[in-house]
Amino acid sequence: MSDHLTGTTFQTRSVEQLAKPFQRQAIPNAVDPTVAGLHRLFAGSDRDRLRDLGRDIRGHAVANLPKLVAQLVDQLETNGVTVHFAGDAAEARAIVVSICSRAGARRVVKAKSMLTEEIELNPALEAAGLEVVETDLGEYVVQLDGDRPSHIIGPIIHRTAAEVRELFSRVAGTELAEDAGELARFARGQLRAAFLAADVGISGANFAVAETGSIALVTNEGNGRLTTALPRVHIAMVGVERVVPRLDDLAVLVPLLTGSGTAQRITTYLTLASGPRREGEVDGPEEMHVVLVDGGRSAIVGSDYQEVLSCIRCGACQNICPVYRQVGGHAYGWVYGGPIGAVLTPLFRPEAEAQELGQASSLCGACDDICPVRIPLHDLLRTLRRDRSAGATVSRGERLAFRIWSYAWASPTVFRLSALLAPLAARVPIGPARRFTALRDVVFSRGRR
Ligand code: SF4
Repeated sequence: MSDHLTGTTFQTRSVEQLAKPFQRQAIPNAVDPTVAGLHRLFAGSDRDRLRDLGRDIRGHAVANLPKLVAQLVDQLETNGVTVHFAGDAAEARAIVVSICSRAGARRVVKAKSMLTEEIELNPALEAAGLEVVETDLGEYVVQLDGDRPSHIIGPIIHRTAAEVRELFSRVAGTELAEDAGELARFARGQLRAAFLAADVGISGANFAVAETGSIALVTNEGNGRLTTALPRVHIAMVGVERVVPRLDDLAVLVPLLTGSGTAQRITTYLTLASGPRREGEVDGPEEMHVVLVDGGRSAIVGSDYQEVLSCIRCGACQNICPVYRQVGGHAYGWVYGGPIGAVLTPLFRPEAEAQELGQASSLCGACDDICPVRIPLHDLLRTLRRDRSAGATVSRGERLAFRIWSYAWASPTVFRLSALLAPLAARVPIGPARRFTALRDVVFSRGRR
């Protein structure tokens, strides 16, 4: 259900989403307190210095990926973990299915993982006869309803409480009250049973620490801990770029992640899974597997887009993006929405429908200003536009129009003339101007800013 790219355009998907008035209110309602909380949280502290450190740690890790991944693998194997490599989504799915089948598993619980959305793991597990339960509350709702997550951190910010009540009532077979406490209690009961019955727990990884061979999971619901500790087999799905050199690096990256993602100084649960259960330990899996997934990542190393691999998936750029705030995550057609989606999707997906996402930005630069690891998202978006216009995916007419525009506006006289004529053109819109001015007022100011 994660793929709505093929055969649709950003424009058609956006128009569809813009027709949902609840969503246009719900997104600012949900994310504005997070953005305000982030500024409150770091007020009086040197957030910029912390962001510099975060950028340096992630930048160093991405620049030294082969060496750090080798160290991570060594350390994981020393800890008793079985490590697998998957070049692409199909390989990753096949590896997980085969681990589950060797373990004789029938039931699987999953913690939230964007990578497993990327590789469309759930349909593959279900096709292999496994029962899969998502245990993050938002992901659980999405799964029950055959929907898709629309935000990296808040998968169901596009859904109303009434819809969740209706859905849970259907599953419960009785009318539940529209009360957050009651709905959460119902979900907790369902999920507890799933945890206790599960043979395999599948998690993602916020970070993978090379020094200690640890998979770091940041969660607020405790489901990550139950997923990794209760079932007899734990499988951690790790994008290769999630490696960091040292355990100490988490002291910088975790507050940046929680501060930017949920405006929390610390997370409720930070789980470090460093191997299967050892003798004398009371819990933990009998087997632990780590599946290192490339999925297009190593091809980005050394390219103009390398910095995007520093992303720690906090979702802050989505919260602040004026485009995302209007159209929501589903308009981007794949797993990632907002500025990070507009950059990552064209890099991970070859289709023309994905390449146009670089245009889904006003280039206001708000994403750069908020990104905790200082990824220059709007530069990357401009680079995507440059590459797209240099390639065959753009029409000759569009290329010619922009060339003429570029020549014209290079002349101060033509620029001034066009500024004088623009309000007139806006009143009598022709061609593409009609679509542009249907939703915008064209106002030219001659004052100095
Ligand atoms: S690009 Fe930056 S702001 Fe956006 S999700 Fe990644 S780390 Fe967060």
